[in-house]
Amino acid sequence: MKEYDYIVVGGGSGGIASANRAGMHGAKVLLIEANKIGGTCVNVGCVPKKVMWQASTMLETIERDAPSYGVQAEVEKFDFNELVARREKYIDFLHGAYYRGLDSNHVERIEGYATFKSDHVVTVNGEEYTAPHILIATGGRPSQMKIPGGELAIDSNGFFELTEQPKEVVVLGAGYIAAELSGVLQGMGTQVHWAFRYDHPLRTFDKMIAENLVEIYRDNHMKLYDHHVAKEIKQNADGTYTVYFENGNTLSGDKVLFAGGRLPNTDKLGLENTSVTLNEKGFVIVDKFQNTTSDGVYSVGDVIGKIDLTPVAIAAGRRLSERVFNGKSEEFLDYENVPTVIFTHPTIATIGISEEEAIERHGKEQIKVYRSRFTPMYFALSDYRQKCEMKLVCLGEEEKIIGLHAIGVGVDEMLQGFAVAIKMGATKKDFDDTVAIHPTGSEEFVTMR
Ligand code: FAD
Ligand code: NDP
Repeated sequence: MKEYDYIVVGGGSGGIASANRAGMHGAKVLLIEANKIGGTCVNVGCVPKKVMWQASTMLETIERDAPSYGVQAEVEKFDFNELVARREKYIDFLHGAYYRGLDSNHVERIEGYATFKSDHVVTVNGEEYTAPHILIATGGRPSQMKIPGGELAIDSNGFFELTEQPKEVVVLGAGYIAAELSGVLQGMGTQVHWAFRYDHPLRTFDKMIAENLVEIYRDNHMKLYDHHVAKEIKQNADGTYTVYFENGNTLSGDKVLFAGGRLPNTDKLGLENTSVTLNEKGFVIVDKFQNTTSDGVYSVGDVIGKIDLTPVAIAAGRRLSERVFNGKSEEFLDYENVPTVIFTHPTIATIGISEEEAIERHGKEQIKVYRSRFTPMYFALSDYRQKCEMKLVCLGEEEKIIGLHAIGVGVDEMLQGFAVAIKMGATKKDFDDTVAIHPTGSEEFVTMR
């Protein structure tokens, strides 16, 4: 049996980051990956999504916005297939960069599916490997719709397999992926029908976000349907699909895309042979140091079901290796105040808690909210006057900022700096004391009254 200091199961965002950091500190590390190196983010997540978002934004800029600046340009041809080919080439390049990074930290690699034989023994391709420290970083996969015909819908993985642009798509779901891919497709000229179960999408975010997004998407000719619970999907004779809803409505398109959350990759891992405990949804239970219930077995990333974001998986993986292999015994990731951006059209940026949650937690009298709604200068010359809206949620007399939310052009690139301030405990006065940068959208955050 081959022995290592550290075995990492899963070569995605969290696994690679932790393996590299452990290798940097001199540990003998083995990384096991069943599929393509880089995991969800690189292959079927952040990276291809952002490429598609850029392309879609570019088309919107040329077709919708450029004429207001006197730029009369027409898109002669938008070659979806070429975009996909170039995107995949870029992803191949990233694979190489990951391999080089792992090599430079002397991380050994195996391609294959790992299963646990016992707490400290994993089997891959018929061989056994052991280590005193093992990381479970196996991520997640899209959940499927459990209705008749649910298997006819594509998920986000299926979206990235498309080589032809669909003409009309029905999108089901109400979270990050449904919001982002609806926007990407609509921006590219596909007619999107976005149906969600309740009165608004993105229900875990401040309500202001969805109110603006729905309005802006409608202005851009997307069709949105609230209170729509799908009950069946059928394929029609011409190859298109129809979704039947409980309220009697039907929607058809040449594709149906379902994005209703993700499942943890723990079911085939052989964890029943270990003392690792899962919660009722199958996510690995960990403490604040990423320790599972089995001594020397750790877990990070989507598979723990806390915050499914790449930088979170990376930060948790790196801190874990600092603790285990570099003597920093108190190192752990604080999951509070994690900034996040949704790459919608326009983007959404948020950190901290929503106004609704703040009131529920602290009481209305403790919360003061500042808002600003304006037309960004980007649209100043246009008849189309898309709004940007921003909000600060402040707590108590000192007005500590416990929530910052924004939707509008450019807010994706605004958030990181404000996140540093909020992580440091910034108050409204700190924002007021900061001189604005003019003319920008971000100046609104330091001039709210
Ligand atoms: P993963 O990246 O999923 O890696 C897990 C790896 O483990 C996989 O490669 C898998 O093949 C491997 N594996 C599983 N089981 C085994 C086994 N038994 N043996 C060997 N290998 C195994 N996050 C952001 O921060 N920004 C974004 O813009 C963003 N966009 C996204 C868009 C989409 C469409 C999706 C689906 C996700 C997006 N995310 C985004 C989330 C982000 O991709 C994940 O949070 C991140 O990839 C999680 O990293 P991870 O290491 O936990 O898991
Ligand atoms: P989310 O958890 O974001 O949202 C899924 C939502 O879909 C649910 O909250 C629910 O909302 C709705 N839903 C669930 N089941 C059904 C159903 N059967 N029919 C219709 N709607 C349903 O999941 P996603 O799959 O969108 O994304 C997974 C995670 O990946 C995200 O949470 C995020 O952490 C990460 N991600 C991050 C991105 C980024 O950083 N920009 C981009 C993409 C993904 P409701 O109850 O209101 O119906």
